[in-house]
Amino acid sequence: MSATPIKGKPLADRLRAEVAEEVKTLGRVGLVTVLVGDDPASEVYIRLKHKAATAAGIDATDVRLPADTTEADLLARVSELNGSDDVDAILVQLPLPSQIDEEKVIRAVAPAKDVDGFHPLNAGELYLGRPAIVSATPRGIMALLAEHRIELDGARAVVIGRSDIVGKPIAHLLLQANATVTLCHSHTQDLARHTLDADVLVVAVGVPALVTADMVKERAVVVDVGMNRTDAGLVGDVDPAAAELASAMTPVPGGVGPMTIACLLQNAVVCARYRTGALVYPG
Ligand code: NAD
Repeated sequence: MSATPIKGKPLADRLRAEVAEEVKTLGRVGLVTVLVGDDPASEVYIRLKHKAATAAGIDATDVRLPADTTEADLLARVSELNGSDDVDAILVQLPLPSQIDEEKVIRAVAPAKDVDGFHPLNAGELYLGRPAIVSATPRGIMALLAEHRIELDGARAVVIGRSDIVGKPIAHLLLQANATVTLCHSHTQDLARHTLDADVLVVAVGVPALVTADMVKERAVVVDVGMNRTDAGLVGDVDPAAAELASAMTPVPGGVGPMTIACLLQNAVVCARYRTGALVYPG
């Protein structure tokens, strides 16, 4: 039997429509993105984010800075945006050129305007089990699992990948949903030993077909976060043959990807609520 596909677009479309309604109610939501340099992949991401934001009625400003921008100049720009009442949400597109310390910039964004949820305060609130602004991809994964009524309470969840933007936050969110979580990474010995135990398997690595069908437990739910550009097109981290064993599985493309942008827009609305005082930022 083949797995039920957990498609992202239907839910993402619904969330985007909800965001558009919320933006109308709020009157205005101001998002500023900052792109330093001309990395082609980053340009594509920024374009997609702006298109989606504008479609939802968000007032999106696209700040472009030259590749040789100094760290001090970027920090000054971020500080200006932090202080502006016209700006609800700030997104600094990563990666940054090598002369700029990414961590410093992430820390410089006002936590309540940190639409990506990367600031240590937002990461810390999540770690402590009282999420404030949660990065968009993990937030999207949880929304997809909830939409498909995947039981997490008491489930064995295995996450592969421990990045700050996907692996670690999704592990925390699964833990908060009362799953028993194992976090695997590049130093994990005998990956299959862990994956074969997973009722819910989340893979966020960036290696095509890292997870093969024989590594998936029968009837498991598989979330493939990977987005790998190959000669065969965009592929995930899980061999599509795993769908023969899984009970449900996200396709690539069309699974987690659409949810990331929808949840970024939701985060912009959350930031607007913090700025206007409708919500109180925990920090
Ligand atoms: P990253 O490079 O920051 O982290 C990768 C993680 O994988 C690391 O923690 C590393 O320890 C682990 N890893 C590497 N090789 C491994 C191996 N052989 N076995 C086990 N673990 C291994 O990547 P990231 O930013 O977390 O992104 C991961 C993937 O998800 C990429 O393909 C990225 O494009 C994709 N992604 C997709 C979306 C989306 O919206 N669909 C969003 C973010 C990232």
